[in-house]
Amino acid sequence: MAREPTGARGCVLAIHGGAGVIARTALSSSMEARFRAGLERALRAGHAVLAAGGPALDAVVAAVEVMEDSPIFNAGRGACYNADGRHELDASIMDGATLRAGGVAGVSRIRNPVAAARAVMEKSPHVLLAGAGAERFARASGVAMAPRGYFGTRKRRAALERGRRGRPLGDDDAHGTVGAVAVDTAGHLAAATSTGGITGKLPGRIGDSPIVGAGTYADDAACAVSGTGMGEFYMRACLAYDVAARMRYRRESLDRAADQALGRMAALGGAGGLVAIDRRGRVVAPFNTEGMYRGWITRGGRATVAIYR
Ligand code: ASP
Repeated sequence: MAREPTGARGCVLAIHGGAGVIARTALSSSMEARFRAGLERALRAGHAVLAAGGPALDAVVAAVEVMEDSPIFNAGRGACYNADGRHELDASIMDGATLRAGGVAGVSRIRNPVAAARAVMEKSPHVLLAGAGAERFARASGVAMAPRGYFGTRKRRAALERGRRGRPLGDDDAHGTVGAVAVDTAGHLAAATSTGGITGKLPGRIGDSPIVGAGTYADDAACAVSGTGMGEFYMRACLAYDVAARMRYRRESLDRAADQALGRMAALGGAGGLVAIDRRGRVVAPFNTEGMYRGWITRGGRATVAIYR
């Protein structure tokens, strides 16, 4: 399993752009530059919030929105298509200080699903809203909507068509997600995750990304986690919660907890990765796929991005 050596200390923010990466042999230098630039933009957006003394919650939203707005990641604009050729997006957010959380699932008209997840957390008595109800709530809460066709890209459409013809899909065509975890100057943690899910998924399928404890978790008493990978396994393994629970109940280090939790999920047959941060600014980013678009940034603004092992 590829693991970031805990060289990643003194960090305030870590992100991922999904474990569905383009095979190393197929990644052109121009695409690599685009991914690296996209990750760095997201890191800088989150860092700007934290450097100004803003809350971790604002930072994870800022970082995730940058990746949702970019067509190269499977979230927001650039999301993959379901079997009906439509977009059904999932997202969630969690506040480590209060354990408040919010999520939206199966939405297709919300420009930044992470913003809607936050609205669910802050403006509704619920944790998770799905489909038309989630969209109605988001609109009424002042969250920006997207015109029809906004999310579509030729690359994702081609992947759907290839899948429909029964041709095998590479990791990058099959799935992906974006996520962020942060710690602010008050020592509070937050996590957010957003995805288009899996290419050709059954309409109505909901993955781990909007599910608190599966794809996203944050608890100041442990860590903040955002996952990416085959969501069904993340849900069965309660992956994000498992990392935090191992730290709280078993006093495992962040490093060990993340490794063990991912290993347990992998033993079920799941593939993917996660990013996690603790209150001391330690970051881990393990994955068991060929790569994971990822990055982290220190309090002083030193950014690192990586794709493969
Ligand atoms: N976890 C996402 C889902 O299952 C996909 C991914 O992260 O690659 O919807």
